[in-house]
Amino acid sequence: MCYFDQTRWACGYWKWGNFRQQCNKEYRTGETCGLKLVYNTTPVGAVCKICDQITKKNRRVTKMYDDIYRWQREGNRRATIEKTERDIMEINYQISELQNTHHERMVSI
Ligand SMILES: [Zn+2]
Repeated sequence: MCYFDQTRWACGYWKWGNFRQQCNKEYRTGETCGLKLVYNTTPVGAVCKICDQITKKNRRVTKMYDDIYRWQREGNRRATIEKTERDIMEINYQISELQNTHHERMVSI
């Protein structure tokens, strides 16, 4: 068990930081035994990059729905609406991938 710094964001996401201290099972200099333990946690007051991306993508989707609503009232925009609907599906897929990545990190440790 070797000790590492850890960074933890307000949303609960975390990552390993610098290697801090070797345990007594590991005698090779600069090597780690592979089992990581938290030496020190640095809290970050903001949400992580993944949450940032999710928020941005959600905002984009909201804006696209607004556009579609407007185009529907204007008429003659069927092709644009269909393209935007496909874009929304694509972004929603990206959002769920990001949420999965985030969730996996939260349940591991
Ligand atoms: Zn997050």
